Amino acid sequence: MSRLILPHTHPFDGGDDDHPHEECGVFGIIGDADAATHTVLGLHALQHRGQEAAGIVSYDGSQFHSHRGLGHVAENFNDEVTSRLKGKMAVGHNRYSTTGGTILRNVQPLFAEYEFGGFAVGHNGNLTNALTVRKELQKRGCLFQSTSDTETVTHLIALSTATTVEDRLIDALRQIEGAYSFVCLTNGALIGARDPLGLRPLILGKLGPAHILCSETCALDIIGAEFVRNIEPGEIVVLTSEGVRSLKPFPKQNQRFCIFEYIYFARPDSITEGRSVYEVRKLIGMELARESGVDCDVVVPVPDSGVPAALGFAAQSGKPFEYGIIRNHYVGRTFIQPSEKTRHLGVKRKHNPNRSQIAGKRVVLVDDSIVRGTTSMKIVDMVREAGATEVHMRISSPPTAHPCFFGIDTPSYDGLMAARYTVAEMGKKLCVDSLAFISMNGLYRAVGEAKRNADKPQFCDACFSGEYPLPLTDQKAGTMPKQLSLLNEERG
Ligand code: SF4
Repeated sequence: MSRLILPHTHPFDGGDDDHPHEECGVFGIIGDADAATHTVLGLHALQHRGQEAAGIVSYDGSQFHSHRGLGHVAENFNDEVTSRLKGKMAVGHNRYSTTGGTILRNVQPLFAEYEFGGFAVGHNGNLTNALTVRKELQKRGCLFQSTSDTETVTHLIALSTATTVEDRLIDALRQIEGAYSFVCLTNGALIGARDPLGLRPLILGKLGPAHILCSETCALDIIGAEFVRNIEPGEIVVLTSEGVRSLKPFPKQNQRFCIFEYIYFARPDSITEGRSVYEVRKLIGMELARESGVDCDVVVPVPDSGVPAALGFAAQSGKPFEYGIIRNHYVGRTFIQPSEKTRHLGVKRKHNPNRSQIAGKRVVLVDDSIVRGTTSMKIVDMVREAGATEVHMRISSPPTAHPCFFGIDTPSYDGLMAARYTVAEMGKKLCVDSLAFISMNGLYRAVGEAKRNADKPQFCDACFSGEYPLPLTDQKAGTMPKQLSLLNEERG
């Protein structure tokens, strides 16, 4: 019987800006003498997908080893810690949660000890019926160790009567709804599973004899691994010493990949679902300039995420691109609890106007999204104070008017500026001379579609359209006022 060795580390408090946040990155490797080291590096490349906690579980042929901690990958995994994670197979996870204190027992990979052996799981996504299923399981006697939606799956696996691990996992997946890219480790296999709509990314890579599952290609690049293919929506892959087995137990559906991955979440140097994220962002900027060009002197990105779209906007409009706002990359995390007050402070700590490029000029600011609007207001103020004669704002997403329930942390309706105000009203509140967002069809053109198919949208765009591609069971049952409310108690 395997045994889990589980040391852990220090607490911390997290981020402070005004963007939607990705809820996690996953990485798994099998058949690699440096499994733990490569997992640390892979998680480091995926740090943008979650900064509140990181964890790795490895297996050395007789024992599982684990290290999980709150904070960044580099804070948790030094040489000494990594050397204790023995074995040729490992899974790792970066976590982001909303506000307040993340607790260690929710940090992934979660680990369960079954009759067939140990099982570790990392999850990117969010289950939309987790609370409903959890309540049923609790009535049946299941004792939950965490408040994570992912633990629902580990209990469903335990209750399955199927004989193999993968069949137990399939049993469990048939009972859950929502978005998931799971990476699981057993004492003989690395298993990946992607939800039938393929909402969140999951890819297969190769490094010599080793196989890798991870969220983005940037995690392959950092270890010199090659991209093999995307895991298909609804596909389960079982990687063992004998190779790769693919299972497709669910009826095929049209994919609904999260379009916000292209706008903001994914790293620009990643190739996601066959498209360069950087190129898509530039194309969005070009579409935006075609749709809502404005007479100006300079195009200024809100760094860093607005940079590729601003480059596209500048190229299309024939206006100069300049770094009119400089971002401090050494801000570090705050120990002040996130609040309206500290969010404003966060802007000042992070951004400073580059007066030489702004003063006396008509400025177009390009950003990727407006969520609460608090950051945008401060940035507009900052640019005006630096001497801009006009400030126009162009946003490379449609208005974010609906919350996400599929693994992205967004405010509920009353926290979303676009849910409360028209674009004209938003422009007034932000004190800009003009405000425009990319249209939905402009966004779809940038990702290579002629237009959005109204009957069968090619992507999930629910935070813009309000058309959710999956049932929101917990939400409808009134058991879940917003996503991940399972964690409200700890998050405050
Ligand atoms: S609702 Fe928005 S952020 Fe959430 S999965 Fe859909 S497109 Fe992505």
